[in-house]
Amino acid sequence: MPSNKRKILLLPGDGIGPEVVRETKKVIEWFNKKKSLDFNLDEGLIGGAAIDKHGVPITDEVFYKALESDAVIFGACGGPKYDKLEFSKKPERALLKLRKELKLFANLRPAICFKQLVDASSLKPEIVSGLDILIVRELTGGIYFGEPRGVKPIENGERRGVNTHVYTTKEIKRIAKVAFELATKRKNKVTSCEKSNVMEAGVLWREEVQFLKDKEYKKIELNHMLADNCAMQLLRNPKQFDVILADNLFGDMLSDEAAMLTGSLGLLPSASLGDKDKNGKTRSLYEPVHGSAPDIAGKNISNPIATILSFSMALKYSLDLEKESSLLDKAVEKTLEDGLRTTDIMSKGKKKVSTSDMGDAIISNLN
Ligand code: NAD
Repeated sequence: MPSNKRKILLLPGDGIGPEVVRETKKVIEWFNKKKSLDFNLDEGLIGGAAIDKHGVPITDEVFYKALESDAVIFGACGGPKYDKLEFSKKPERALLKLRKELKLFANLRPAICFKQLVDASSLKPEIVSGLDILIVRELTGGIYFGEPRGVKPIENGERRGVNTHVYTTKEIKRIAKVAFELATKRKNKVTSCEKSNVMEAGVLWREEVQFLKDKEYKKIELNHMLADNCAMQLLRNPKQFDVILADNLFGDMLSDEAAMLTGSLGLLPSASLGDKDKNGKTRSLYEPVHGSAPDIAGKNISNPIATILSFSMALKYSLDLEKESSLLDKAVEKTLEDGLRTTDIMSKGKKKVSTSDMGDAIISNLN
């Protein structure tokens, strides 16, 4: 008989992926036990780990498990061992396949600056303290996917490289809707970024976002900002933003920039959401922003917080458990308040802990 339990698929991957996912698994098991939740946990190989065992970065079996899951928690994949493989066989192909086939068109990246870690930011404490921005990036369209594309020889032995920045009304509305919906649960403020001063597709982006706001989201305060200005404003006065909406290319850059306002890669979670399937389930994948960090893999010194906070996003966006998500966020904050630090966020006077100590401390604060 099919189970009604909600399915969470863990895909630890390579490098520090297995360490940080192991700590997240402990947290999920805590919720099952202490909050009587019914998550059905499963695990699969992905990336280099899957190449080593099966010769491919993701097997069909794991791929179908991901399709059927309520949430996928991904660690990281890749590493020097696989650098020489041709592009189509690299570990990262697995992630691209999941994003494409699960139609994960909305990438959510919060940039929150914990008050305990303001010193880890390269900006002045008064500029970043209390920062709480959410970047909503379009993930399946725009210049990374547009046709025509490629490099072709032209006359005089020269070559011509082409990528096409293309968006349709439907794609723009779909991602803008996600940004507006999320803003209604925050400060009701959206800043939409493009380059409408020099790009026709940017003019279309601006118009369609405005049409949707005027029609369906009258209460939202919508500002349009040129993407280059937004990059500058993020450094000058980041607290002016609530939700930032951007296309694939500008969102890629702005989210990396916003991420660094908060200090360490080891703290940054992300969510990628797709359309609802026929059963009303939103496809989703949650992952830390960082990679597989081969330089520190296997040493039990990586920071598991980004992955644990990615699970917190899963609780909020896929599992309808907002209270539990905020409980977990508070436990992470309390652990930082207690002065515990992994190497990447270590500072004078704080207590250096391992990956597993950090996971245990978060669980003890949940308790
Ligand atoms: P990286 O994010 O793995 O590491 C960058 C630096 O940050 C390293 O010094 C690393 O030690 C540190 N770091 C990262 N996460 C940390 C954590 N949780 N705790 C403490 N320190 C942490 O980026 P990279 O070095 O450019 O890439 C390494 C590999 O990861 C490459 O093979 C790359 O292709 C892959 N990668 C994978 C993903 C993904 O799976 N989504 C994303 C980015 C990079």
